[in-house]
Amino acid sequence: MSEEKKPAIKKIQATGHMRKIMADYFYELDKAYKAGSPKIAWCTSVGPAELLLSLGFLVYYPENHGAMLGSTRTATDYIPAANAIGYSPDICSYLTSDIGAFIKKETPLSRAYEGIEGVPLPDVLVYNTNQCRDVQDWFSWYSRELKVPALGISTYRNIGTITTDHLASIEKQIKGLIPALEEISGNTFDIDKFRHILGLSYDCTQLWKKVLETNKAIPAPISFFDETIHMGPAVVLRGTDVAVEYYKVLLQELEERIAQKDGAVEGEQYRLYWEGMPIWGKLRNLAEFFISLKTAVIASTYCNSWIFDSFDPKDPFMSMARAYTEIFIVRDENFKEQYIENMVNMYKLNGLLFHDAKTCPNNSNNRYGMPERLSERLGIPALTINGDLNDLRCYSEEQAQTNIEAFVEQLESR
Ligand code: SF4
Repeated sequence: MSEEKKPAIKKIQATGHMRKIMADYFYELDKAYKAGSPKIAWCTSVGPAELLLSLGFLVYYPENHGAMLGSTRTATDYIPAANAIGYSPDICSYLTSDIGAFIKKETPLSRAYEGIEGVPLPDVLVYNTNQCRDVQDWFSWYSRELKVPALGISTYRNIGTITTDHLASIEKQIKGLIPALEEISGNTFDIDKFRHILGLSYDCTQLWKKVLETNKAIPAPISFFDETIHMGPAVVLRGTDVAVEYYKVLLQELEERIAQKDGAVEGEQYRLYWEGMPIWGKLRNLAEFFISLKTAVIASTYCNSWIFDSFDPKDPFMSMARAYTEIFIVRDENFKEQYIENMVNMYKLNGLLFHDAKTCPNNSNNRYGMPERLSERLGIPALTINGDLNDLRCYSEEQAQTNIEAFVEQLESR
């Protein structure tokens, strides 16, 4: 597609606001790292961030850094450095690109934010294996390298019904982190502070949910590709007033768009689901390509993963255990299929896209026949796009575009 023919992605006015709060977040971390206070915790994206915040840590998320490496298309510069120390090209490319960048002493943060020379190094690493085992291996590498403790929660996987036994175990593990975290932070755990932060996370998550659900409108006001950018505050700033205020602003803008019938895709004809990880380095290309096909990708498992309905400040430990266990990635095939069926009905979708991310089997749900089963059950077509979250050597743009075009023609013929 030549430059002049590229369809325009409609600008979201709140983007400037988001950039400012994300910049403030990284500068605050950088300042704390340089001053040695407050202490810094690295946390997995669906780890116990609220507990860490309540103990006075600033929280940094290596997966967010991984996504930056992907979206700046620098990940493939760094993956070989991690391969060279024994981390396979077949495992999580967030892990390999992040560790590779660390080995090469480079980060997109220093290009984006003047004065930041490196990532803010941790005083403690805290993971939850609810999403995958890779995060434990990832944090264990840093633990050995930087000689800081790695603490974790091991979550059951492939769960259908969540039982009280599951939750009791997770709750116990969350509580079990507190003595070590108190010692590292130098602060005493305060249940009221924990409740307050969990309440802010709940407010953030409810607003984020409302943002996503604006896409029930026809035409849909925001694309999946924009949502992956605008979920940044829900990932790294949940538990703060700043994130709550941001989503109020974004929500208002999207509601205005709905009132004006101003869709993200001009002349929207088809509405699709994106199952799996984003292809970070190709968000813009894919957004433009779908706009050119008058097809809106408007609902996804990925963006829904930061909706934590169960947070309850009245019962903080148990509700946190539930919220971080009931997410999609933890669940069995039956749950996942029912979940996607609900999404198809809620958003009035015409088809399903499955991203088979080469290095993330945990978020690639196409591999055991799910697209075929859902397609038959729901009477809508499904397409698998082969690619990866960060390793663009696994993605052929030409092949993906050919397949997507054929898929949209299939929708037309129906
Ligand atoms: S869920 Fe996938 S992308 Fe995320 S950390 Fe695990 S392997 Fe990497």
